[in-house]
Amino acid sequence: MSTKHNLIAPRTTGEWQAADSQHYLHPFTDFKQLAAQGSRIITSADGVYLRDSEGHRILDGMAGLWCVNLGYGRRELAEAAYNQMLELPYYNSFFKSAHPPAIELASLLAEVTPPQFSRVFYAGSGSEANDTIVRMVRRYWDLCGEPGRHTIISRENAYHGSTMAAASLGGMRPMHEQGGLPIPGIVHIEQPYWYENAGDLAPEEYGIKAARRLAEKIEELGPKNVAAFIGEPVQGAGGVIVPPPTYWPEIQRICDHYGILLIADEVICGFGRLGSWFGSQHFGFRPDIMTLAKGITSGYQPLGAVMVGDRMAEVLIEKGGEFHHGYTYSGHPVACAVAIRNIRILRDEGIVERVRTDTGPYLQQRWRELAEHPLVGEARGIGFIGALELVADKATRRFFPKRGDVGTICRDHCFANGLVMRAVRDTMIISPPLIMERAHIDELIEKAWRCLDLTARDLTNA
Ligand SMILES: *Cc1c(COP(=O)(O)O)cnc(C)c1O
Repeated sequence: MSTKHNLIAPRTTGEWQAADSQHYLHPFTDFKQLAAQGSRIITSADGVYLRDSEGHRILDGMAGLWCVNLGYGRRELAEAAYNQMLELPYYNSFFKSAHPPAIELASLLAEVTPPQFSRVFYAGSGSEANDTIVRMVRRYWDLCGEPGRHTIISRENAYHGSTMAAASLGGMRPMHEQGGLPIPGIVHIEQPYWYENAGDLAPEEYGIKAARRLAEKIEELGPKNVAAFIGEPVQGAGGVIVPPPTYWPEIQRICDHYGILLIADEVICGFGRLGSWFGSQHFGFRPDIMTLAKGITSGYQPLGAVMVGDRMAEVLIEKGGEFHHGYTYSGHPVACAVAIRNIRILRDEGIVERVRTDTGPYLQQRWRELAEHPLVGEARGIGFIGALELVADKATRRFFPKRGDVGTICRDHCFANGLVMRAVRDTMIISPPLIMERAHIDELIEKAWRCLDLTARDLTNA
């Protein structure tokens, strides 16, 4: 157990768990159930492996929470933070001030993002970035003299974060049921989930059909009332929903036709996850706004960002007046310093390129072998993201009667066998660090296969 700096005294696993359940309310957690079971205590990590308080070594198939793109233990990122803390640990960008890390990162983001982006607004997280968008988009339409354009269209089962506006943009019903969401002016359409929703349609046909839901919703609301459409290029937390290739081009066409803003939530897909710098580039669409977080710092520091496309930036600047919005930690110098280092490493070491041409295709090829397993109805993915549908009947795409139980069984086997794979209902998902090599990928596939076997055995014995 690492207690290098005498900041935290060593404790046994049992002691950690007892203190944890007494004092710590975890996010997205059934508090009582966790207290009964005890948390898993992760104490350190290196490369693509985690270590827990019992000394187990675990292959991290989720890159933390979709964020540790460069893997654990990169000294350069730690040094960037350390040096910046000594130089200038904090200053704000309110009241006509700025500092070098925020400016340098803004320039770097303008370089690595698609050509329509040359300006950034900083936040502390993906949720804050998406909250910012709701206000910014409505402000944009006010300034354009079309204040009626107020409604933002999103998708069922989308995930855009957990603050009031971000959770409202999201399409997670259990989240909406707590706290009176969604807030007014946000509506949801069908997600492009071919495996569950397409019936007999081929993926290409279904992609068009799912995209046309947007046009139908715009017509229903009245085109003059619609401000924007928001979507994750690939829905992550919703279960790695990969849209058919026809989907995004049709969404683009519809947004252009009605003149509404197109927002890409790139919090997961951004910074190399699909083997492209941004998910919109993979699918060939041209967003007006992008939200970034997670991979922007490889999770070493909390940071969110809104890339504001030129169409919008010009109006906000020229017609603007003050935009009454911002956070104490907008453009935090330490987070920005780490982001600069992280993005330079991604670029200079050719990591995105490697995911696109080498390790990504290899992972996808091996991942699809898992579709041979009797439990697996579909194995899908792009680059370094993937999903397995665990089903009761492969031929008819029939799910298990109580969605989620089998996924939980499988996830628990994974953890017990040295692999982090997450379960969303009965969909097993991965989003590994982008630095995984072929040998790690082989290890991931072997462990996944073994855990699918253990899951199947539990189901036969039940
Ligand atoms: C995680 C996530 C968010 C929210 O980011 P936080 O940093 O947790 O607030 C937003 N959008 C997507 C697509 C995400 O995966």
